[in-house]
Amino acid sequence: MNSSMEMTPLTPAMKQYVEVKNQHSDCIVLFRMGDFYEIFFEDAVVASKILEITLTSRNKGKEDSVPLCGFPYHAVSTYIPKLIEKGFKVAICEQIEDPKLAKGVVKREVVRIVTPGLVVDAENLNAKENNFLAAVYPLDASIGLAFLDISTGEFRVSDFHDAQFFEAEMASLEFREILLPHGLRRDGFLRAFAGREDLCRLDELPSDYFDREEAWRRLQAAVPGENLERSGLKDHPAVIGAAGAILRYVEETQKNTLRHIHRLQWYSTADYLLLDETAKRNLELFKTISDNRSSGSLFSILDETLTAMGGRRLRWWLNYPLVDPEKIRERLAAVAEVRENHLFRENLRQILSKVYDMERLAGRIALGVANGRDLVALKNSLKKLPDLKNLLADKTSLLLKKIHQGMNELPDLHDLLERAITDSPPMTLREGGIIKEGYDEERDRLFSLTRDGRQWIAALEEKERKRTGISSLKVGYNNVFGYYIEISKANAANAPEDYVRKQTLVNAERYINQELKEYETTVLNAESRCREREYDLFVAIRETAAAEIPRIQETASWLASLDTLASLAEVAEKYGFCCPSVDREDRIEIDVGRHPVVERMPLKDGFVPNDVVLDTDENRFLVITGPNMAGKSTYIRQVALIVLLAQMGSFVPASRARIGVVDRIFTRIGAADSLVRGQSTFMVEMNEVAQILRHATNRSLVILDEVGRGTSTFDGLSIAWAVAEYLHDRKCIGARTLFATHYHQLTELAIAGTGFKNFNIAVKEWGDRIIFLRKIVPGGTNRSYGIQVARIAGVPEEVISRAREILDNLETGEMDEVGMPKIARSRKRKVRNPGQLNLFMSERERIVEELSVLNLSSLAPQEALRQ
Ligand code: ADP
Repeated sequence: MNSSMEMTPLTPAMKQYVEVKNQHSDCIVLFRMGDFYEIFFEDAVVASKILEITLTSRNKGKEDSVPLCGFPYHAVSTYIPKLIEKGFKVAICEQIEDPKLAKGVVKREVVRIVTPGLVVDAENLNAKENNFLAAVYPLDASIGLAFLDISTGEFRVSDFHDAQFFEAEMASLEFREILLPHGLRRDGFLRAFAGREDLCRLDELPSDYFDREEAWRRLQAAVPGENLERSGLKDHPAVIGAAGAILRYVEETQKNTLRHIHRLQWYSTADYLLLDETAKRNLELFKTISDNRSSGSLFSILDETLTAMGGRRLRWWLNYPLVDPEKIRERLAAVAEVRENHLFRENLRQILSKVYDMERLAGRIALGVANGRDLVALKNSLKKLPDLKNLLADKTSLLLKKIHQGMNELPDLHDLLERAITDSPPMTLREGGIIKEGYDEERDRLFSLTRDGRQWIAALEEKERKRTGISSLKVGYNNVFGYYIEISKANAANAPEDYVRKQTLVNAERYINQELKEYETTVLNAESRCREREYDLFVAIRETAAAEIPRIQETASWLASLDTLASLAEVAEKYGFCCPSVDREDRIEIDVGRHPVVERMPLKDGFVPNDVVLDTDENRFLVITGPNMAGKSTYIRQVALIVLLAQMGSFVPASRARIGVVDRIFTRIGAADSLVRGQSTFMVEMNEVAQILRHATNRSLVILDEVGRGTSTFDGLSIAWAVAEYLHDRKCIGARTLFATHYHQLTELAIAGTGFKNFNIAVKEWGDRIIFLRKIVPGGTNRSYGIQVARIAGVPEEVISRAREILDNLETGEMDEVGMPKIARSRKRKVRNPGQLNLFMSERERIVEELSVLNLSSLAPQEALRQ
């Protein structure tokens, strides 16, 4: 309890609030008072700022005044997300009895706690992204990880034995909230979240949340035995602890049984092509490096999905490409079949565009928050299933066959929804208008009473006008006074005796009479009973739907895959991708390959495609030289992207591709994000290099762009050289590597050993200018054309010509056996060498150089001493 709560003498309602707040001290409590949610004390101070609502006080100026802010109950869905976004948990405390019937203070209870990791309202979720709550439990030598998307029921678990893999996974899954056992050393986590702390809430829980036995009991209750058995979870106590903590946390916050969380999916990073956070960022899978936006990412090019489920599945596939060629080929065959037949693809996509997010609908049904519109959306989606099944009936690829068999049309449920729910029900559940006529006799009886009553009342108006002779007499209704007969002030004197005055307005009087009163009771009673009946019927129907959740979810999951395959087929067709052949060999061959994102950009002369051959023998390590801006980065990324696309089951931008699967893709590209982490550019670069050297295997693909750039030339070149040798050497790593560099000295590596191959990106010289040809050709280059590139970039002509002069000096220097310039002598002695030249000189050479430019005959003795 905070100090202001302790000091204030409390009213009974406030006492009740304080009790609730004490039980939920880590939450902002929304306290329902009539039509408002009120927030008090310190919470009010914090919330009023975030929500931008006025901070006032209850019983202002009095002794028991307390800080207060609030908002109308119907605005709850706009305000809660703002608090959640800032990482707060929100406890919703409702009145759970009718205030009119309450003796003393109305009973209130926390009915639900909304947390950043547990959001269920469709309008607050990004349709094509999962919203995960995770739990982490380190035990002995392993770290258990479990994560759940409560809106869809996806519940995945895994364990890790390597902190680096674990950190990479934590960083890449973008959890919104993580549960940790109290007192856990969090350095590792914090490292994984550097720069993103405000996007993820860390909740420390008492260790009994992770207690193995309790966790196992909870898992048994939630997950059918067979699935639990199959998951092999029993032998992984750390994972059991993490999964159990999630289930308990969910139970405590949702105050509801969660029927949609019944399937546990074990996943192992060994089954996937691993991409750490650096690789995902460098390859711009989901966001661009330059402006961190999703447009311009690979995902934005690939996403032609038509359902939110498909969008999330595509994201998962891109995050977790496969390594098993069988499984990859299964996806590719399905994509091929969808692409082949234009009409089939059109029809398929036409139907998919009418399907709603069945996964999240199932979640809302399970959580008891689905409304009439949700059930209509489910019905309309189910309605499409027979057509989809028909369409798939004659398909031959294995995966499409599986989808055909796996989808369940749920005809009973569809019929029920069709018969029972009106076509456009309101958002609310208690105002009627949800149930169709003919579904339930009792509801229809009450409804006709209401309708007849309304007609009777309309007839009464006519009758009373005649009886009183007042033609402006009206019968009306309002919420406060109910039905009334209204007569203008001018005619009020003529009101009959049996009229009893109810309300006086400026220009009119309102009355009631016995007859109207009796009818009012019947009509209003019938109306409210009809609404109640509809509500009860609706809840029962929702329960029936809830019983079908496993089948809805399974169907939804197949639909998600179908939509993803159709999206990949659409992309393949649209951009002219080809079907790669995928195997376990060590070769990667790409003919006429393109960069899927860069080729979509407006380029003056169009995109120039290039080939590649990589194997573990002669073509293991490709050194790619060429001037800045020639297209080196684009080329090496394009190779990585094509491999990744193939392994996720997508066609690829090439005329032919043969991909021997890789286990990991490592990247070391640029250093645009270094400042985010508060490390120097060079430190970030070396960290990335260290990770690669530690974890790459001979099945990995390594993409290196400009290693050693962040330090002095000699340091950088030496590091780059040693890194190249270590990666190349089979006894060390022997990984297939593409190494783009502006150190043309590295082309000498090819002399040092087999497996190194030199390539350069061709440029054409045009007098003193160059033209980029963008074509990769065998052989190294010993020119960097930096000055020409500087000119293209608009550096002033004066600087360009001075640079040329200095370059001429440098180029006359001798080379040692590895191609490093030993010394650069100035031909024109009167031009002092710029400071950079000193880099290449030993102390002795520097002194010789200094002396050689002195004019000894004209030097005064004083000056000679100073020199
Ligand atoms: P480098 O790494 O050699 O400095 P980049 O790969 O960054 O060069 O390429 C520079 C620019 O050249 C790219 O932004 C793109 O506009 C263009 N480019 C690169 N490769 C190609 C290509 N194959 N075809 C056409 N334009 C290309």
